[in-house]
This record gives sequence, C-alpha cells and structure tokens, in this order.
Amino acid sequence: MNVITNYPPTAELQALDSAHHLHPFSHANALAESKPRVITSAKGVWLKDSDGHEIIDGMAGLWCVNIGYGRDELAEVAARQMKELPFYNTFFKTTHIPAIMLAKKLAELAPGDLNQVFFANGGSDANDTNIRLVRTYWAEKGEPQRDVIISRWNAYHGSTIGGASLGGMKGMHGQGGLPIPGIEFIDQPHWWAEGGDMTPEEFGLERARQLEAKIKEIGPERVAAFIAEPIQGAGGVIVPPETYWPEIQRIVKKYDILLIADEVICGFGRTGNWFGSQTVGISPDIMTIAKGLSSGYIPIGGSIVSDRVAEVLRDTEFNHGYTYSGHPVACAVALENLRIIEEEGMIENVRDVTAPYLREKWEALADHPLVGEAKIVGMMASLALTPDKSTRAVFAAETGTAGFICRDRCFANNIIMRSVGDRMIISPPLSITCDEIDILIARARKSLDEAYEKLK
Ligand code: PLP
Repeated sequence: MNVITNYPPTAELQALDSAHHLHPFSHANALAESKPRVITSAKGVWLKDSDGHEIIDGMAGLWCVNIGYGRDELAEVAARQMKELPFYNTFFKTTHIPAIMLAKKLAELAPGDLNQVFFANGGSDANDTNIRLVRTYWAEKGEPQRDVIISRWNAYHGSTIGGASLGGMKGMHGQGGLPIPGIEFIDQPHWWAEGGDMTPEEFGLERARQLEAKIKEIGPERVAAFIAEPIQGAGGVIVPPETYWPEIQRIVKKYDILLIADEVICGFGRTGNWFGSQTVGISPDIMTIAKGLSSGYIPIGGSIVSDRVAEVLRDTEFNHGYTYSGHPVACAVALENLRIIEEEGMIENVRDVTAPYLREKWEALADHPLVGEAKIVGMMASLALTPDKSTRAVFAAETGTAGFICRDRCFANNIIMRSVGDRMIISPPLSITCDEIDILIARARKSLDEAYEKLK
C-alpha cells in the first residue's frame, strides 16, 4: 500500500516526472525518451515497480540499503522519535539523546582511537566538513600553509563543491569550475585498465609511490591529508593490489599526513568488516560515513575523527555545521539500524556465509566470453568486460557494452546492476540469501549472454 494513494497510471507518472523532475546524474531528454521505471515498494532485496515487475536489487539502492528493505523497526523508531522530539539543534549549548547515543555507538564500533563524530546529512557534505576540518587542524597546530589535500583520479567523494573537488572525475570537474584550489591528484590503483606489463604487486607499489612523489613535488610542509576509499566503489569497484595500502600507510606516516578513509560505501559491513579500513589494514585519522549508517532509510552522514585530531579541534571554535547535523530522527534510525546489523550478526553472516558463496559464483562469471576479470570484496563486486581477455583490451567507447547490458538487458531481466565504463558492478543488500544470490547470478549471466549474441 503506497503512502501516496490515488496516483495516476505509469505512463502519466512518467510524463509528470519528465515535465517537473530533474534527476541527478541524468540526461533529462534521454531519460524522458527511455522512460524511468517507477519504483513503488520494496522488501528484502526485492523492488516492485508500478507495472508489477519484481526486480532483484543488486545495488542496494545506491550502495546503501545494507539491512535490506522493509524493516519496520526503523519506521517505528522514526515515528516514536518524531513524536517525542522531531528536531532540535546541537549548535548552541544544547544536545540531545539520539545524537549522544549514536556518537557513543560509533566510537565503540570504529577502530583505534576514532572516538569523536561530527554529523552531516550524507557523504558529500561530510567530505566538505573534512576539508575544513583538516585545514583547521593544521592551522591550529601552527601550520596554516598545510592546506593541500591529495586525492586520486577517478575517485568519487560526492557531488557538493567540496566533495566533487575531492573526487577525481573529470566530467564532474568540467561542470561548475572545479576543483577548488588546494586539491591535487595521483593515479588510481586500477591494474586491469592501467597496469600495462607490470604484475599487480609491482603496479600497486608504483601507484602508492606516486603519493610520495606528489608530496615531494608539492612540498611535505604543504600537504594536509590524503583521501581515498579503501576500495573504490563508484569508480568501478576497483580492488587495489595487496601491495598498495601498506605502502600508502607507510608514506602518510613518514610525512605525518592525515589519512582520510572515505567509508561511505565500504562502511557498515559492505567489505565483511564494520569498516573497509579494517579489511585493507589501515589506520585512518578520519573516516567519512553515510549510506549504510542508516541503510539509506533516512539521510545521515558524518566524519569520525581520531583523538589526535579532535584534541586540537577542541581548542578552537569550529565555524561549521548543518541545520540537520545530528538530526534526532536520523540518529535514532541509524542507531536502530546498527542494532539490527549487530544483533543479527549480519557482518559475520556476510563474512562467513554469503560473501564466500557470492565470491564462488561471481568469479565463475570470468569464464564468460565477454568477461575479463571478476573482482569481489565482501558484498561489492565488479566484472571488467573486454573484447580480448589476453590483452585486457577495452571496447570502443561508442559500443557502450556495459552500459547497454545494465540499462537494457538487466532492465529487461529484472535485475539492477550498474555500469561504470567497461565495468558492471553489484553491491547488494547484506541481507541477501544464498538462494537470492543464485537468482542474481542467473539473471546477470542471462544478460551477458544476450549481449554477447547481439555483439557477435
Ligand atoms: N563518498 C563516496 C565514496 C561515495 O560513494 C558517495 C556517494 O556515492 C559519497 C561520498 C557522497 O555521498 P552522498 O551521495 O550521500 O552525498
């Protein structure tokens, strides 16, 4: 039963959508022509559209619905909190119980001495916070010239001016005059596409050492921080070679540079641990969080900050904050979401049962004639499509193979997968069962087969 009743039939909804709704990351005219699917309800890993199709959601919405759809507990907590205290701010000598309890819980879950939380509304504005936070940290330490943040080409860190500047997506920089000053980039550890004749291990070291070279080029006394996702998500689920992160950790330590781990996708169980930093073995000074924090049921994000950073910030007034920083309803929902993940042993189940099962099935897709490599960590995975596996060749851009499969064949086969360049990716809810994994894999393979027949 939809909350909004009395809505018009699908074709009319699509026409209204096209007339009045500007979609994120979309070409409006192309979308109007292809007609967006109208999603009406969801349960577990299944979406329903206005034509009655049942679609398996291989992307957990936008990498966020970690506990799966339709958990009434979160709705009930939201309703209770709205009745008790729907809003109050945390700006002016006031606080409230949901924000306190969520911050405490996050400090408990986060590794090392990451013990303080600054709340935001999502991942982009949390990364904006991080820019101001690290620059303020160094200014307070008497090194205001340390204002450069190093990121990576093809990184995604959000869509605000700050987030998109930290991101290394040239298409985003091209709109709106980005990046802002003081952001520098090194190359990504994407062996399949950029590794040439190097082994993955050699390549991982080479890419990590670009960080050291960049620090020396800028001058170590000017570098404030390095930001990266433990495993790149929106860049194409790019799993770095094993040599990469230990070398990055060595370099940031050597030059005393703050390490920001963007855990917006990797956090809250996606990689088989609470945080991706634990999976790749790093100790960040700041973690960006969002998405799985509330399983997408309500917007909330934040920065979890180490004691070392927080102690310095505590000595000054941080002139920064959002009306909805630590929104009581969002905090209460996030707390309930974390309770479910923890008490139901969702992360252990991913690590011990469903992720190994998915890995076996996913890696078997590498035998498909279109698939070059199949990469997977926990519940995030990608396929690199290629016309020639032996040379790791890419399809001509205009072929748009992965895009065609995901938008056309997957759409027809009632499975949501996403394309990034020549890669097809998934990031299903952590609640997916082994039987549902079988369905997901069968539909993915069918979509690949149909595309192969068409390309032949
Ligand atoms: N950082 C990463 C790694 C992301 O994947 C995203 C969103 O996909 C963001 C930041 C931005 O988060 P939001 O869309 O909640 O602003």
